[in-house]
Amino acid sequence: MNERVKKLIDALYNGKNLTLSEYEYLVSECNEENAAYAAALAVEKRKAVYGNKIFIRGLIEISSFCKNDCYYCGIRKSNKNCERYRLTREEILDCCDAGYELGFRTFVMQGGEDAFFTDDFLCEIISEIKRRYPDCAVTLSLGERSRDSYERLYNAGANRYLLRHETADETHYGKLHPPKLTLKNRMKCLYDLKEIGFQVGCGFMVGSPYQTYKTIASDLKFIEQFKPDMCGIGPFIPHKDTDFRNEKAGSLLLTCYLLSLVRLIYPNVLLPSTTALGTIDPMGREKGVLSGANVVMPNLSPMNVRKKYALYDNKISTGEEAAECKAALEKKMNAIGYKIVTERGDIKL
Ligand code: SAM
Repeated sequence: MNERVKKLIDALYNGKNLTLSEYEYLVSECNEENAAYAAALAVEKRKAVYGNKIFIRGLIEISSFCKNDCYYCGIRKSNKNCERYRLTREEILDCCDAGYELGFRTFVMQGGEDAFFTDDFLCEIISEIKRRYPDCAVTLSLGERSRDSYERLYNAGANRYLLRHETADETHYGKLHPPKLTLKNRMKCLYDLKEIGFQVGCGFMVGSPYQTYKTIASDLKFIEQFKPDMCGIGPFIPHKDTDFRNEKAGSLLLTCYLLSLVRLIYPNVLLPSTTALGTIDPMGREKGVLSGANVVMPNLSPMNVRKKYALYDNKISTGEEAAECKAALEKKMNAIGYKIVTERGDIKL
C-alpha cells in the first residue's frame, strides 16, 4: 500500500486534521486497497462509539412541489414531467402511526421547498407527532428557510434538520444551482440551525457534475470544521428530465471511501448509508455500513406517491410497503453482523 496514503489515513484515525492539499491527495488515491484500509479503521471507530447498532429513520416525503431549480434534481421546478403531490396532515400522521408500530423512533419529513408548508402548518404537525410519540425524534429536511422559521420549528419540537451543503466550493455550487441559490445562504442556514439547537446534518453528492478531488477536499475540510451531527453522502444519479441526464452516476467505491474518511474525521457522526447508494448497487447499503455508515432511512411515504418523489432515475423501494422494506433491511443488516434497533438514535457526544 502507498506509504503516504497509509500515513494520512492513520493520522485521521489518530484524531489529526489534514490540510486541504492532503485531503485532495487522499481522495485522488481512491482505489480498492486504500478504501479497504480506510474502511477497516472506520468500522473500528464506529464500533467503539455505536457498537453494531444500526439506527433507522422513517422517511416521509411530504411534497414534490419545489420552488427551486437545482440542475441535478428530478423534482426541480422546471421539470414539467414531474407529477406533483403533497401529503395532507392526516397522511403524514398516518405514516408516523404505521412507522411507530414498525419500531421507528425517528420520523424525517422531507420535501421540496413548497410554500404550502407554512410555519404554522408544520408546527402543528410537529407538535402533534411529539404529543402522540414523545419518545420519538422529529427530523426535518425542507430546505432553506429563514432563521425565524427554523426557530419556530425547533420550538414546536423538531429535533434535527438535514440540509446538505451540496458542495463547499462556491464555483462548483454555481454550476449545480441557478444564481438565486448561493453557497453563502446554504451555509448561513446550516450555522443558524446549529445555533438554534438542532442536531444538524450537512452532506454532498459524490460524482456530481464538475466535482473534482479539490472540491471534495473542501467538503471534507468543511465537515472537519463544522462537525455536523449527521452527514448525508450518496452518489449523484442522473435524472432523465434534467440537463444532467447524460452525466455519469457517482461511483460506489468513491462513495464508500468517502464514508470511511468522514467516519475517521468525526467518529461520532451519524452517517446514513443512503438510498442512492442502494440504487447504484444491490449491495450498496450493506457496503456503506461496512465502510462506516450506521444509519438507514427506509421509506414510510404512502405507496401511491413514492414514484412521484423521483429525485433521480430508478430509485429503489418505490414499490415496497414500509413493513416489507424494514423486514428486508433487517435481514440484510443481520447478514453482515449488524442489528437494527428501536431507538431514537441521537448522536453520542
Ligand atoms: N429541498 C430539501 C433540500 O434542498 O435540502 C430536501 C429535498 S432534496 C431533494 C434532498 C437531497 O436530494 C438533496 O440535498 C440532494 O443532495 C439529493 N439529490 C437531489 N437530486 C439528486 C440526484 N440526481 N442524485 C442524487 N441525489 C440527489
